[in-house]
Amino acid sequence: MKQLEYFLADEDATVAIGSGLATVLKNSVVQQALVVYLNGDLGAGKTTLTRGFVRGMGHTGNVKSPTYTIVEPYELANWRVFHFDLYRLADPEELEYMGIRDYFNDDCCCFIEWPEKGKGLLAKADLVITIAYQDEQRVINLQAESERGQQVITALAD
Ligand code: ADP
Ligand code: MG
Repeated sequence: MKQLEYFLADEDATVAIGSGLATVLKNSVVQQALVVYLNGDLGAGKTTLTRGFVRGMGHTGNVKSPTYTIVEPYELANWRVFHFDLYRLADPEELEYMGIRDYFNDDCCCFIEWPEKGKGLLAKADLVITIAYQDEQRVINLQAESERGQQVITALAD
């Protein structure tokens, strides 16, 4: 299976996809990095989905949008989760100063909003998620871009 598509009736449905991804990761036997690119217009639900994921991974506090900080780290039981929002990144080189390479380790999940702004400096995506407006609601497409991504969406569809 290479891709999945779902209709998202409301915010809860968007959160549920994120927490579904967390369940898949927590159930996986081997710990392996996951890199997720999040595409979609402003307000599509990229941060909402990431919140579902971070909470699903065991974070109990707030999940705020890293619009001004570029990255928000979450240190959880067995995993580190990094939520990036590159919307305000002026120059991709800023990512080099941040030590971007250190974020792509085997115990790390990276969810990246506006990945095109970091072109050339990010690890390749395992999953590319696109959320599109459908009137007041949304449609989500999850596309596997690696073997790892494929395993994840196959497990998510089960
Ligand atoms: P982004 O990070 O893509 O800019 P946010 O997640 O910050 O977007 O905001 C998404 C907004 O849309 C929130 O106000 C949320 O309540 C709403 N929303 C999220 N998913 C849905 C959905 N499936 N249907 C309708 N509204 C949604
Ligand atoms: Mg956002």
